Formats: sequence, C-alpha cells, structure tokens
Amino acid sequence: MGMTPFDYTQAQAFLRDKFVPFAEANVSIASSPILYGLSVYTVFSLNWNDTQKKLYAFRLRDHYTRLVNSAKIMDFHNFATAWPYEKFEATMLDLVRRNNIKEDALVRATIFVDELIAGTKIHGLTHSFAAYIYPMGAILPRGGVNLCVSSWVRNPDNAIPSRAKVNGGYANASLIKNEAILNGYDDAIVLDGDGHVTEGTVSNVFLVRDGVLITPGVSADLLEGITRGSVIRIARDLGITVVERAVDRSELYLADEAFLCGSSARLIPVLSIDKRTIDTGDATSNAGSAAGKITSQLLEKYRAVQYGEASEYKEWLMEV
Ligand code: PMP
Repeated sequence: MGMTPFDYTQAQAFLRDKFVPFAEANVSIASSPILYGLSVYTVFSLNWNDTQKKLYAFRLRDHYTRLVNSAKIMDFHNFATAWPYEKFEATMLDLVRRNNIKEDALVRATIFVDELIAGTKIHGLTHSFAAYIYPMGAILPRGGVNLCVSSWVRNPDNAIPSRAKVNGGYANASLIKNEAILNGYDDAIVLDGDGHVTEGTVSNVFLVRDGVLITPGVSADLLEGITRGSVIRIARDLGITVVERAVDRSELYLADEAFLCGSSARLIPVLSIDKRTIDTGDATSNAGSAAGKITSQLLEKYRAVQYGEASEYKEWLMEV
C-alpha cells in the first residue's frame, strides 16, 4: 500500500515460449494481429490482501476456458493442445512470481496469429501465446459513472461475435467509448441492432427493478463476462432474484439501481443514463453511498470474494 504502482515497462513478460523483458515483447508491423486484429485475449485480476499479505488470482481456470473458447470461435485451432490448462496455469503463476507483485494488478493473456503478410487467413497458421501484467489503475471513476446510450450498435454475433474476445472486435468498443467521452460521459451502454441493451464498452450491465436483479441474457451480443457470472452466483447465494432476459432501452431510465462490472471495471454503480439520474432511493439505507441497496450489498460481497475473505468462494481463487 502507498507504494508507486507496478511499472509494467520494466517487468518480465511472456512471448511465444519464454520470458522476456517487456520492451522486447513485440510483434511485427506485418503480423496478422496488427493488420487484421487477429488475436484473442482475456484479462484476469490479481488481488493483494494487505492484511493477509497474500495475492489471489481470480478465476484463472474460467479465464483459460474463455480464452480457449474465443480461439475456437476464431478457428485458432490446436491452442488447447499446445497450451493445456496446467501449462497455462504454471506459466501465469511464474509470470506473477517473477514480477513479485504485491498490489492489485491485471494480467492480459493473448493468443495471436503469429504470421507475417498472411492476408486475412486464419486456419492452419501458427498461433502463439503472450502475456504481461499491468497495474489495476481505474478505467472508470470507482464512485460511480454517468453513461449515455451509444449511437453505435454492438457487433452482431454473425459479424464479429462478441462472445469471442477478439481484438479486432474492439474497434466497435473504441468507437462507442470515443463518442461517449467526447460527449462528456464516462462510458456508454450499447444496444444491439434491434434496440435491446447489450453491455458497456468493456463491462457487463445489471439493473435492479422492484428488488429483482436483471441483466441481458447471453444471446444479447455480449461478452460472457466472468464478473457477470460471479455476480449472478453471489446474488443468488444472497437470496436475490436474478433474471437474465432481453432488456429494453427505456428500462434503463426506470431502473432503481444499475451497475457495470468487469475484471478491470470491478463493480461500479451507475449514477445516470442519458442524463436521467438513477434514484437509488433512501440514502440512509445505503449509508449515503451512490450505490443503491442491492448494488452496495453485491459490491461489498464481491470485494470480499476477490480478496480471499469469503471462504464459500475459495474455489475461485488461486493463491500465488
Ligand atoms: N464485456 C466486454 C466487451 C469486455 O471487454 C469485458 C472485459 N473483459 C467484459 C464485458 C467483462 O468481462 P469480464 O468480467 O470477464 O472481465
């Protein structure tokens, strides 16, 4: 605590088959990820419990599974054969230990088409693995965010599947984020082509209406967020009713509470959407916090889970 954040530029990274200084972990300007965004990735969190003096990696196996699934969707065949879970886990733990991490941080793990001037082809090419650690930072104001609904729509599943965390697809997220910032918002909620709510730019979205937690279902052109899954499970364990269903834009304006969640975003209350304030009701019921009652409850529990303070979710953590 109180230290300067981890300097990723001076750290060890992993590229292809070995650890290298971050400055040497580069790919060519003629490579497929640069030319066509042909890479898939995941980002998982490292959570430092300063009281316990322990570092926990969050849901490593689930991040691996999603990475493998993204590779399958993109037809980066054979990744799981070259990189079985045990090898992935050992390499990730080695990466973290080599960098002596004692603070909250994020690990970005990428599989990329490792070829030069291969055109847009995918199948049968070489696929390589890379990973690095960077500071947790704060991609959004932790106390709460003011959102708009984007004028852009989400990539549909049969154009660039949102379920695959493919780098090329993030041009969509960047257009959404760029518009939101230029218009004075922190971030945006993006709709699908039919006008239903999908997610944020790099987070999933939840609403509370009449005490029920609502989030768009997995067929809503969204990334199946690991935080989203964690929140659903934690909420149900707390006895909160959770419904996954299509969400209309107009419901955003009627929500009693709303929040965004993701590995980098963590869990962040939404203060307003399209300048409509989310009225979280009686401020005394949530200690004057911007977060409503259910959001506050989930925020607190999710924090405890990530820092190894909730024994019932220990299977989600790996002590590094
Ligand atoms: N949606 C998108 C588009 C994202 O990029 C992210 C961040 N990975 C999320 C949702 C949240 O996913 P997760 O909880 O697995 O980080």
